[in-house]
Amino acid sequence: GEDAQLTWSKAPCRFCGTGCSVMVATKDNRVVATHGDMQAEVNRGLNCVKGYFLSKIMYGQDRLTQPLLRMRDGKYHKDGEFRPVSWDEAFDEMARQWKRVLKEKGPDAVGMFGSGQWTIWEGYAASKLMRAGFRTNNLDPNARHCMASAAVAFIRTFGMDEPMGCYDDFEHADAFVLWGSNMAEMHPILWTRITDRRLAHNHVKVAVLSTFEHRSFELADVPMIFEPGTDLAILNYIANHIIQTGRVNKEFVEKHCSFRLGQKDIGYGLRPESVLEVRAANAKDPTDSKPMSFDEFATFVSEYTLDKVAELSKVPKERLLALAEMYADPKTKVMSLWTMGFNQHVRGVWVNHMVYNIHLLTGKISEPGNSPFSLTGQPSACGTAREVGTFAHRLPADMQVTNPTHRSHVEEGWKIPKGLLPGKIGYHAVLQDRMLKDGKLNAYWIMVNNNLQAAPNSDNETYPGYRNPENFIVVSDAYPTVTAAAADLILPAAMWVEKEGAYGNAERRTHFWHQLVNAPGEARSDLWQLMEFSKRFTTDEVWPKEILDANPDFRGKTLFDVLFRNGNVDRFPVSELDPAYENRESKEFGFYVQKGLFEEYAAFGRGHGHDLAPFDTYHEVRGLRWPVVEGKETKWRYREGLDPYVPKGEGVRFYGNPDGKANLFAFPYEPPAESPDKDFDLWLVTGRVLEHWHSGSMTMRVPELYKAMPMALVYMHPDDAKDRGLRRGSEVKVMSRRGEMRTRVETRGRNRPPRGVVFVPWFDSARLINKCTLDATDPISKQTDFKKCAVKIVAV
Ligand code: SF4
Repeated sequence: GEDAQLTWSKAPCRFCGTGCSVMVATKDNRVVATHGDMQAEVNRGLNCVKGYFLSKIMYGQDRLTQPLLRMRDGKYHKDGEFRPVSWDEAFDEMARQWKRVLKEKGPDAVGMFGSGQWTIWEGYAASKLMRAGFRTNNLDPNARHCMASAAVAFIRTFGMDEPMGCYDDFEHADAFVLWGSNMAEMHPILWTRITDRRLAHNHVKVAVLSTFEHRSFELADVPMIFEPGTDLAILNYIANHIIQTGRVNKEFVEKHCSFRLGQKDIGYGLRPESVLEVRAANAKDPTDSKPMSFDEFATFVSEYTLDKVAELSKVPKERLLALAEMYADPKTKVMSLWTMGFNQHVRGVWVNHMVYNIHLLTGKISEPGNSPFSLTGQPSACGTAREVGTFAHRLPADMQVTNPTHRSHVEEGWKIPKGLLPGKIGYHAVLQDRMLKDGKLNAYWIMVNNNLQAAPNSDNETYPGYRNPENFIVVSDAYPTVTAAAADLILPAAMWVEKEGAYGNAERRTHFWHQLVNAPGEARSDLWQLMEFSKRFTTDEVWPKEILDANPDFRGKTLFDVLFRNGNVDRFPVSELDPAYENRESKEFGFYVQKGLFEEYAAFGRGHGHDLAPFDTYHEVRGLRWPVVEGKETKWRYREGLDPYVPKGEGVRFYGNPDGKANLFAFPYEPPAESPDKDFDLWLVTGRVLEHWHSGSMTMRVPELYKAMPMALVYMHPDDAKDRGLRRGSEVKVMSRRGEMRTRVETRGRNRPPRGVVFVPWFDSARLINKCTLDATDPISKQTDFKKCAVKIVAV
């Protein structure tokens, strides 16, 4: 029948960090169907509602198919109308602007905002172009808004990023604790695995902590609504409970842990301290702390008693005790899970540290079922943002831009002159917006993200920067987002299976796919755009004279020559392409570009605990979890027998740190940056919904998903509504000190905030809740707190 004409191929889902695998059917250069991949360990044939409609995300009617430049009288004008131009005209204008800015202000004035939705090689190519080409670290991914706090805490605790456990922990744990995470909507496929485990095993318990009731509470044995920000106090109480009841795993702690007293405040990142923070981040000791003893740590947390924390958090004592016992009881294997509730927190790094503290005190870590597990939001937050190193402070394989040895190692790997890479940390996401607004960042490229919708305090901080007449803003995207509409040049992007790709999911799984169809019109992949743009610059235009004097062989070359035709990236011929699939970039560039980039990148991690398998292997399998050593993936890291990097006889070794020990940090409870008061009397919490992916730029164009959830409502307690003369369906304004948005009230349904709290999702571009949010960042990770600010609700 009809099916016989379809070609089915594997690919990871385009959306979330769960990393489900799907089977994709194509016919006549079009994706016509998808279904969950029965062979995939992650999802075992299942998909969530977003995954089921993947086949439709590329076919929205307003798909961008040609470059659009703001023009007046036949040439670029900041206030002109968008007019179609050729790729040559687009890159000509863009290169003219880049060269103007580089000449007038130098590398600090150019920047790029990328994404955890870039493929691995796109992020890697962007990092090369920005750091080695334009000599700036002003490159940051939207993952800064997503899991920067988690990444920083991993490095400070274990010396290496990313979880030690994996999804197999779901089938081994006796208790699951959701810290501020609504997995039922945000990680629905993983939630099915927890649900299976809970319903099939009577002894298994689920605790759900949040600042409002949501769908994950339906499975909760221990439900807990806490006062925003008091998770810090609850975690210190659990540490205190473990110590006071004599359940510290002393042998584990003595052998494998160090205690450190964390340095206190360097500010919440509100203007104007942000610039000072960048200097602070350059400070010598990356953990910014000093050693302490176990006894000192015990004294530090001893003030977090059950009485005190119950009062502060407003969680009933018996529930706090039941939660603490899940961790303290040596017989219970416990998995802690978190995402934005922890990470989007002005003390996001602290709260991540605190959950490691309780797993380390009990030795419940790095073995099946005992697992502190940081979930991710984006499909390649791990693979691209973290592993490739697209953050303003990072290089590939956990190396840091401030470390001269790391820079020199990368310079060797990239075959570029010594001393070329800049050592100054670049502008992070929120700081980029401020620098754009202040006219200090002037040539700016945004790829695969919709930051005008995603960034905090967007009307005051983000939009003015994009429209600042001194700045030239380029947006590469598949659809005309609000961000694209505020740009000067829009570049149409190929998406998902319109290019060959690779993502890395939350459990360290690297997963590849082939190009299955061609992009419409002139839309081209981000990889192609980055590499083509690099042809417009010669080393003499962008590199310092002294570097070229010392390395005359590099003179007169294009950035394309030195970054991509460098003997590494171009070493695999197109004859190695799988003839069953298209690969536009490789055919045009004349070498297997994805393979060359991947192998150059993978060389940094091999032998250093980050081993990736050979490129071709990944096209055969449904992903592998790194480190992959001698063809074998690693499910649990840091434990002998499970992780090939732990030497015989050591039992456990946290080898990311030179002494092999994990760091426990003592930090106190501190109140949030802004709290409700008499003028703005409600807490605002923002987040996602099941049906929409992030800013909705793809899912709002799928009719079924749009109809299922067409607009962002404000979820509030019925009594809070009543007090204000409102009811379900009332039209209201959500107002903060920074801005306002209009929507309707919802007092029933899936989200049920307690009195004093409202929840608004951010997927709706017609109702931008981020006009109201506060641009306060964690001072260590620079991640924004989207979960806690003060608003009022008024009728319109
Ligand atoms: Fe799986 Fe996430 Fe895709 Fe849903 S959106 S199918 S949970 S990867």
